[in-house]
Amino acid sequence: MIQPDPVEDELKTLIEAEGPIPVARYMALANAAYYSSHDPFGIKGDFITAPEVTQMFGELIGLALSDAWSGAGKPAAAYVELGPGRGTLANDALRAMEGMGLEPSVHFVETSPLLRHEQGERVPNARWHADISDLPDDVPLLIVANEFFDAMPVEQYVKTMMGWRELMVRYDMDEFSTVPGAVSCEALIPDEIIDAHTASVYEHSTTTHKMARSLGKRLAAQGGVMIVIDYGYYDHLAGDTLQAVHAHAFADPFVRPGTSDLTAHVDFSALIKAAAVKGVRARGPVEQGDWLVSLGIDIRSDQLTRANPARGAELAAARMRLIHPEQMGSLFKVVGFSGHHWPLVPGFE
Ligand code: SAH
Repeated sequence: MIQPDPVEDELKTLIEAEGPIPVARYMALANAAYYSSHDPFGIKGDFITAPEVTQMFGELIGLALSDAWSGAGKPAAAYVELGPGRGTLANDALRAMEGMGLEPSVHFVETSPLLRHEQGERVPNARWHADISDLPDDVPLLIVANEFFDAMPVEQYVKTMMGWRELMVRYDMDEFSTVPGAVSCEALIPDEIIDAHTASVYEHSTTTHKMARSLGKRLAAQGGVMIVIDYGYYDHLAGDTLQAVHAHAFADPFVRPGTSDLTAHVDFSALIKAAAVKGVRARGPVEQGDWLVSLGIDIRSDQLTRANPARGAELAAARMRLIHPEQMGSLFKVVGFSGHHWPLVPGFE
């Protein structure tokens, strides 16, 4: 018999005590439980991310950061990664940066003890942070977030016959399910979609908004750049994008919380608006495939193949997986941010 995750009981007890809880709260609790008890990456896990596909991904990111850093006059800097997974991207990026003379201090924002351990195996000199508030404030930051913001909780709002309501999670007849809340929330809905038809769903991530705003302020004050890569959209009404993935297949987000990865598509227009404070310039979103090609993935793949011809087929397949529109090339988008007096992140021309 399949054992329920302990978070399932915690959620039931919470809902029994307080009544239905916002989708965002459900998602935050379920994901915290999921990431602290699973290493989700790879064939045996639940999903594969770009840095786990090939070293070229992290290397090209490292080279892009080095390029911006050179243009800024090579100051002392801190590498910051949000949700570094297994530490693979950081390991590849730091190696590429070292080759360019860039050796930043390393800061990981990570809540999962299990993944912190994995990260320490690959990047022993990292320092860990539970959130972004205590990142260094005296040097420029080189920030990377790959598939991080999609794991942040989203609030969901639904248009009902009585107007817009927040979607809440209830527990009834042995099942979690969503139900419109009792309180009207018109004030939270963007003007452009306030008149959308009944049953339309609008998502907003307060967590992403707050983080993006505070990272943008850091870039404006301290200098540095930020590269955000994720799947997402660029207009307000993308509908309900909450999804669960378990063992490389879609699952029901409301069945067995804590055992699957819950994500929502990233609203890039909201993310850019939040982070692009005065003094910060944003570029993108562009498709991941185009960005990697413009950074030179073809050259890197040729170099690696020449150095080790036996790896040719594997490198060609990995390159294809990252850039092909039907694989990760179009679904994933990249946004670059540059702080005060810092050059633009390359690859967006
Ligand atoms: N960037 C990695 C992993 C993406 S999965 C890669 O590309 O392979 C999401 C990562 O974010 C995991 O490391 C997870 O533990 C972390 N994470 C999820 N929620 C978090 C939170 N609220 N604060 C910090 N890290 C979080």
